Amino acid sequence: MTTTVTHRRALIDGQWADGGDGEIEVRSPHSGELVGTVARCTAGQAAQAVAAAARAFPGWRKTPLLDRVALLYKAYELCKERNEAIARQISREMGKTIRESREEMAEYACEHFRRASEDALRYRGQFLPSTQERTNSKRIVVSQEPAGVVAVVTPWNFPVDIAAITICYALAIGDTVVWKPSEYAPLSSAMLADIFLDAGFPPGTLNMVTGGGEAGRAVVAHPDVAAVVFTGSTRTGMEVASATGLKNRVLELGGNGPIIVRRDADLERAADAAVAGCFYLAGQCCTAAERLLVHESVRERFVALLAERAGKLRVGDPLADSTDMGPLCHAGVLERTRQHVDDAVAAGATVVLGGTSRGLYFMPTVLAGVTPDMAIAREETFGPVAPVISVGSDEEAIDLANATGYGLTAAVFTNDLRMAWRYADSLRHGTVLINETTNYWDQLAPFGGRGRSGTGRELSSWMLDALTETKQIVFDIG
Ligand code: NAD
Repeated sequence: MTTTVTHRRALIDGQWADGGDGEIEVRSPHSGELVGTVARCTAGQAAQAVAAAARAFPGWRKTPLLDRVALLYKAYELCKERNEAIARQISREMGKTIRESREEMAEYACEHFRRASEDALRYRGQFLPSTQERTNSKRIVVSQEPAGVVAVVTPWNFPVDIAAITICYALAIGDTVVWKPSEYAPLSSAMLADIFLDAGFPPGTLNMVTGGGEAGRAVVAHPDVAAVVFTGSTRTGMEVASATGLKNRVLELGGNGPIIVRRDADLERAADAAVAGCFYLAGQCCTAAERLLVHESVRERFVALLAERAGKLRVGDPLADSTDMGPLCHAGVLERTRQHVDDAVAAGATVVLGGTSRGLYFMPTVLAGVTPDMAIAREETFGPVAPVISVGSDEEAIDLANATGYGLTAAVFTNDLRMAWRYADSLRHGTVLINETTNYWDQLAPFGGRGRSGTGRELSSWMLDALTETKQIVFDIG
């Protein structure tokens, strides 16, 4: 099938702007076919975008909340109308299956328009009593005011969903935005920007600069940016942390989440969760199950159940309705997956299933005999690999789960409620799931990590906390 090749530019001050230092080609990970091109924006264009957002901020901040919300509801309707077209573009340019892309659009991206509106309508300050002096004359009001220009930098694995969260919440609360989408999924990202433009958001409220790391760096480091919401790898996140200085920031970074399988676990359920955790989106999720810490007494049975299920996954064209797993997004992801698997095998792990690749496709892989010192256990792989590590006790499982410094999501399979609580208390991760896969999150619950997985929380009122400045106003009424 031939695809339409589109060229997209930057969106600055309500206009699609020409310019840039050449173009970036976007190719299908499935076929290598050219899908489109985007402008490689310069630092100068990033500065123009920030200036446009800064000019738009005072007016947007004063726009009645009900008017901002009305625009978001209009955008919600447009998003629903365009769901299928955007889903297909996501699958074409970054390779997730069409079922996964439809889920990204219908269940996540679209809903952020409504949820941001609802959360902004119900977001409240506080009223505090006087506690400093023995007087009843002070009245302290704590308000949350919009931070200003927010820089949003996003990855390719959920290109529209992740961007829509921050953009919708920022615009709802009165901030303006400069967005730098991933260079691997900029075309579906531009379709999200179209929605805001077509819904009638005023010029400058949402700006988008396309390009790679240079463009991202120019946006996050700009002195007129008040807050940064960055989602991406831990390595880039550390660069962003040092470039942003004293700005407000949320860093949503990499993961190395374990699924812990206790000896009392329902093994069938745990194996289903491992398939969802390791192979959904070909393992390219920050919340992927990167390590399976399985009690030695049930390891053999668990590995057999897992391999049986993983062996049935249909791998192929992401745009085919029947496909369960598509290709990896780009050569860098393939190379790291290959290296992690080869390194593990050289150090004594056994390939139970898969281990082979063709083009950007890496077959669902199950590795047994993985040890905690191997790179695949210590670092994020971001590929379709299930590395099984044998553990002898709960203490060992907890120590290993906490050992890598990542702390995004961890899952535990057990039928012992008391032990479930002990695990929940001991695991240093932003989310602990009991009898559920790591790839589970709720759109209205705080999402984020600690340690190498980042700082801050997004979604619902936690997102609004990150996008506002807390101000206290003290009245002395005499
Ligand atoms: P990446 O770090 O390579 O790139 C992310 C974004 O940062 C891209 O838009 C990129 O162009 C930009 N960028 C690159 N260098 C920059 C710099 N110096 N300054 C500013 N911006 C810069 O990540 P990726 O490969 O696109 O995404 C995969 C990673 O993202 C994985 O590690 C995954 O775990 C993580 N991720 C985390 C979450 C989360 O919520 N915690 C969600 C999705 C993905």
